[in-house]
Amino acid sequence: MGRAEQDTGCIRVRILLKIPAVTDPGISGRGESVLKVMLRRAEYECSTLKPLIFELLDGLAGDRIGKAGRVLIKPNLLAPATPDKAMLTHPLIVRAAAEYVLRKGGIPLIADSPAMGTFDRVMKESGIREALKGLDVECREFKRSVAIDVGPPFNRIEIAEDVMRADVVLNLPKLKTHTQMLLTLGVKNLFGCIVGLRKPEWHFRTGVDREMFARLLVRICRAIGPSVTLLDGILAMEGQGPGKSGLPRRLGLLLAGTDPVAVDMTVCRMLGLDPMSLLTNRMAAETGTAPPDIRVDGELQVIENFLLPEITPLVFGPKSLHGFMRRHLVQRPLCDDALCRLCGECWKYCPAGAIKAVNKKVRFDYDACIRCYCCIEVCPHGALRAAETVYGKVARKLLKRHED
Ligand code: SF4
Ligand code: SF4
Repeated sequence: MGRAEQDTGCIRVRILLKIPAVTDPGISGRGESVLKVMLRRAEYECSTLKPLIFELLDGLAGDRIGKAGRVLIKPNLLAPATPDKAMLTHPLIVRAAAEYVLRKGGIPLIADSPAMGTFDRVMKESGIREALKGLDVECREFKRSVAIDVGPPFNRIEIAEDVMRADVVLNLPKLKTHTQMLLTLGVKNLFGCIVGLRKPEWHFRTGVDREMFARLLVRICRAIGPSVTLLDGILAMEGQGPGKSGLPRRLGLLLAGTDPVAVDMTVCRMLGLDPMSLLTNRMAAETGTAPPDIRVDGELQVIENFLLPEITPLVFGPKSLHGFMRRHLVQRPLCDDALCRLCGECWKYCPAGAIKAVNKKVRFDYDACIRCYCCIEVCPHGALRAAETVYGKVARKLLKRHED
């Protein structure tokens, strides 16, 4: 691991798996219940991107969209950002999806619930508002929720009414890293369908338990059941994503499938990762909702040296030690005072109330902090990052030595 990687709490993925082109036997079809993931090379070039997206949508859900009334289009609209930051679904992809729905006679609605900034600001700064000019398409922030029973332990979850009342949902995620969950892809994008401050509330309720949070994400995803997941991996994000602390990385890829978990598993394979290392995939498998088989239509290449945030188990061992471990061993959010502009977004969003401004500097209460890393996600100035503690580094070295 290079010095830069140590300093940023990230790790580069070298090739772990050799994947042959066209179809990977490890995840290719063997029976009738095969799910297809379409993978294409693409650029943000209107003349080529639009026909490509039309082809993908036609192949996966053309009939359903043709018969549908209201079609909800859910891009990643996390926070105000320009397309070069690779934080949001690109405006040309959003436009092509809306155009396709209109062409098929559907009524498109583009909506999300940004974690930071107003919906209008996100639409403007992202370039999506401009890109949609001339199209008869409604755009709005999710406001009202409806309660859905997703079963124990979560039971009633409130999901945006616009999503649950839509005839068809088109899920348009971005390929990004995620400091808490490793990656944010098709499944995680649908967490944006939880309205406003209910999102940090769920972070708080699932606490430091990443598996529990992943299980929640899978339940939300299955309750919504998008018809198509079309993932923007043309300009992806690596490093400490998914906010402004992440680094744009050009991959030139578009993936589409009817099952978000199948799309996410395919991305993992492309990045040289075991699909089960992404907790949402693992939780889908454990709850029996993972796709039995996936066939990749397209050239499945391995992307080398993708920079992932280093994810360490948050807590383990006897419960009585969990508080100590969380405080002293788990990566903690850290502020670069030179970049911080004291805008207050982090402390407004923190589900644990663990951030304050003291003497014009951001300070954390690490005892209260649940290590959800939402503050890193919402900081508009890239001033926050996850950093290893001294004890954490020592513990990791000891563990590694023990494993070796
Ligand atoms: S750390 Fe980021 S979000 Fe928090 S006050 Fe500073 S600039 Fe704003
Ligand atoms: S300080 Fe950051 S990581 Fe800790 S609970 Fe608050 S938002 Fe989450």
